[in-house]
Amino acid sequence: MREILQPEMNVGTAGHVDHGKSTLVQALTGVWPERHSEELRRGITIKLGYANADLRKCPSCDEPKCYTTSKKCPIDGSETILLRKISLVDCPGHDTLMATMLAGSTLMDAALFIIASNEPVPQPQTREHLMALKIMGVKQIIVVQTKIELVSEEEAIRNYEQILRFLEANLDEIPPIIPVSALHGVNIDFLIREMVRRFTPPQRDPTKTPKMYVARSFDVNRPGTRPEKLVGGVLGGTIIQGRFRLGDEIEIRPGAYRGGKFIPLTTKIVSLKSEDTPLEEAYPGGLIGVGTLLDPALTKADNMVGSVVGLPNELPPVWSELDIEAKFFDKIVGMKEEISVTKPKSGDFIQLNVGTATVPAVLKEMSHDLMRLLVRIPAVAELDQRVAISARIGNRWRLIGFGHVKG
Ligand code: GDP
Repeated sequence: MREILQPEMNVGTAGHVDHGKSTLVQALTGVWPERHSEELRRGITIKLGYANADLRKCPSCDEPKCYTTSKKCPIDGSETILLRKISLVDCPGHDTLMATMLAGSTLMDAALFIIASNEPVPQPQTREHLMALKIMGVKQIIVVQTKIELVSEEEAIRNYEQILRFLEANLDEIPPIIPVSALHGVNIDFLIREMVRRFTPPQRDPTKTPKMYVARSFDVNRPGTRPEKLVGGVLGGTIIQGRFRLGDEIEIRPGAYRGGKFIPLTTKIVSLKSEDTPLEEAYPGGLIGVGTLLDPALTKADNMVGSVVGLPNELPPVWSELDIEAKFFDKIVGMKEEISVTKPKSGDFIQLNVGTATVPAVLKEMSHDLMRLLVRIPAVAELDQRVAISARIGNRWRLIGFGHVKG
């Protein structure tokens, strides 16, 4: 049997706050993801949570009962067979955390789109998250209709029809809708089967120029470690394409802020890990920990989130001014009220999401739909790369459109 050391793909969770994303992640992985609401209450920066799950099948049970994430079949105790190793990227559903959700959606190969059956459809972040998945090009979607045991059969059917109408109005291809009770583990086997059948992992192409988006960064040294025992900074992220190997020389852009500007960093990969598994080489899928020789002061406390890692001189350009060809929505999707989008004017503040980076910018000028922006943190982007555009409405950043980098 093939040995699978790291997840083969990232499956994101998306949906309105409290609709049951964390509970579903727990039902699938056995682990309660980082509590966003708790972090929110305590005013901590919100991070993307990754949790790995093995999609498995019992060789002796009938379909769909045979699908599980456990090594031993919960029904008859047989050893189960590993079908696919995935990483669940848990995104926050709160409307103040859209930037984190947008960063997460750039790392998703597929998504579980969660909609609770006991509320009218769509709720504001149901709309906004579906838009984010569309903008970021996440095409493999399964809709999970949760909390099914809280409603009657008639209510469940009515809610299902509302979901269907909402999907038909927004997507060309209607994804399957799977009713579950994550709290009681009902229909999770069926959901696992659909994930195995419908989600295709990205192709591993080691000849492509490697590129990783940084989603976390750490100083892994314990306080009081003796200087000779200190290890270099660790970058955590998802590889978008290609492969990285132990010993590779790497470059990180935009780099470190020194003498009034950002200087790209170069270093070497001294360790590679997927959760606790050491790797010789790493591919797209899951959170990869890249140990470097960088000063850990640079990487501590998620300092490098939003950076891009690649081989020296093979990374996308770093822009301090950006031209974006923009498409604006008619209505602001993330609010209860139906407010029309007004196109930004010169001098307005804009927020861009470029890969995992949140980039504040000022609009210098706009002709037709071409925005010339002065960015306050250099943006690392390929020509034609897609970016999400948000504007400040009231006291929140709201998604108002998307665009492509033109220069
Ligand atoms: P998130 O904000 O989308 O991550 O939502 P959570 O997973 O934190 O769930 C919000 C609340 O809904 C919690 O109190 C959960 O216990 C509850 N919940 C989630 N899934 C289910 C379900 O299938 N049935 C019921 N009855 N409650 C659920």
